[in-house]
Amino acid sequence: MTTIGDNLQSQRARLWRACEQAGRPPDAVRLLAVSKTFGPNAVRDALAAGQLAFGENYVQEGVDKIAAVGAVPGIEWHCIGPLQSNKTRPVAEHFDWVQSVDRFKIAQRLSEQRPTHLAPLQVCIQVNVDGGANKSGVTPAELPALASAVAALPRLKLRGLMAIPEPAPDAESARAVFAHVRVLFEALNTHGLGLDTLSMGMSDDLEPAVAAGSTMVRVGRGVFGARSYATA
Ligand SMILES: *Cc1c(COP(=O)(O)O)cnc(C)c1O
Repeated sequence: MTTIGDNLQSQRARLWRACEQAGRPPDAVRLLAVSKTFGPNAVRDALAAGQLAFGENYVQEGVDKIAAVGAVPGIEWHCIGPLQSNKTRPVAEHFDWVQSVDRFKIAQRLSEQRPTHLAPLQVCIQVNVDGGANKSGVTPAELPALASAVAALPRLKLRGLMAIPEPAPDAESARAVFAHVRVLFEALNTHGLGLDTLSMGMSDDLEPAVAAGSTMVRVGRGVFGARSYATA
């Protein structure tokens, strides 16, 4: 077993414990392995240990890695980084999910550029409930209109919401952010959007995210180890 395989086993065990503590079924939360900054061999180690869903922040790095790893049945690539409109085409052509949609223009381009031979692009809207104006993510006030507009685009499938709390010294503020995002998620479903994905929780705040109802945690360092260059 490789180090990455060992790490995956312990992160899965951690996730099961978090589900148990929260009174949720052990398979209620998916694990997304965030492979940004790590090369194709790290992804291959994770694949060998049964991991199929990977998250990437940088478009070019992700596209190169997707090509290097090649076709693997069931593999899923998620774009989780901030997206500029001039970078949407490679994302639409190579990724399976985009979790960081926060404006209509980006969503519209992704829908237009999604090749017809591929399944619709699965998307989450990134919400910003605690940050300043410079942080990615739509505000709670803007969310309902954006969600309805994105849900109507033909080549996208709106699956849910993604959030990244501001780094904070106390667990309480992350809990408050997760609880707020959960409320926004439930409210959209009350309006019939049928969302099934609440992507929140990372290496340092997985447990409070699971307690708040996360359905997908995005774990980088816990699976692949420390990153050697700074990332967004
Ligand atoms: C890097 C990153 C992660 C993973 O962070 P870790 O702290 O390494 O688990 C999750 N989500 C997003 C959006 C990221 O950029």
